Parts: sequence; structure tokens; C-alpha cells
Amino acid sequence: MSIEFLGNCLTVLSHSLLAAKPNEGCALLLGSHRQSSCLEKQNILQVQMIWPCCNVWGMETFHILDLPKKINIDIKEDLSKKNRFVIDPREQLLANRWARERNWEILGSAHSHPNGEPIPSLVDCYWTFSTGLIVIIGKYGDIRAWWMVEDQIFNTKEVAILSSK
Ligand SMILES: [Zn+2]
Repeated sequence: MSIEFLGNCLTVLSHSLLAAKPNEGCALLLGSHRQSSCLEKQNILQVQMIWPCCNVWGMETFHILDLPKKINIDIKEDLSKKNRFVIDPREQLLANRWARERNWEILGSAHSHPNGEPIPSLVDCYWTFSTGLIVIIGKYGDIRAWWMVEDQIFNTKEVAILSSK
């Protein structure tokens, strides 16, 4: 599997995520799948639109999302918008409806690590609620994509980002 950003999606993505600094920014990735033309029919996720979201992390979201049951681990850092993001579930519903009207879907989410590397943090791994794609932009603006598997901390796989045409 690989991911491809069409048009100016990559630029829009980095601008909207980095605008949230010093907080983590977040966005949904909308688009469709296609099969590559080479022999091994590889699945390519084509991002056609960036849906910027507000980072609604807060103690309320902690309860709404029923996170406490996921936090029976030793997270030593203090969690805040600077190191954690939550996308409002209502935003996801809206984006999902909007995408479906265009025969697209939500391919995954993206967020920034304003002070870190573009690799999934321990918290990212523990709070993966469904298997899927996440894209992370690091403090130097470098972007990497990952396939997260729910409840499998050590099973994160990097997804290749194809250079856009
Ligand atoms: Zn993260």
C-alpha cells in the first residue's frame, strides 16, 4: 500500500497543521483508492482533499471518548494540546457525509508533532481506536505516513508516500 497526495494537498496539509503551533494540528484526509498499474496490483490511497479540523483535546474529550480505559499504561508526560490531539467526532461525521457525496471516503487522519519526529508516539499507539492510516508532520516539516493497527503497539508499519505528479 502507498499514499499519494494529489494537486496541492501536501502543501495545504503542512500549512494547516503547522498553523496550530505550538499545539498539535489535525486534519482528515479525503479521497479514494486506486490500483496501481504494475503487476502486483498495489492499493494506492489517493488524497484528493484536506479537511482541516480543530484540535479539541481537553479533559471533557477525555471522558466523552471514554479514554480512561485506554490509559492503564504508564504515560509519564502531561497531556495537553501541545502533545495530543483529538478530532471532534461531529467533524468526522460531516467530513464523511461530504466525502460520500463525491464517492470519496475518509482515508485517514493527519496531525503534527510540533516538537518531535514524524513517527507515532506511544500515546498515538495506545489510542489507536481503529486500524487505519495516519500521517504525521514533524517539527522540521517532514511528513511520514503510517498504518496503525488497533491494540498492537509494535505493529506500526510505514506507508510509502508517492511523489505527486
Ligand atoms: Zn502523535
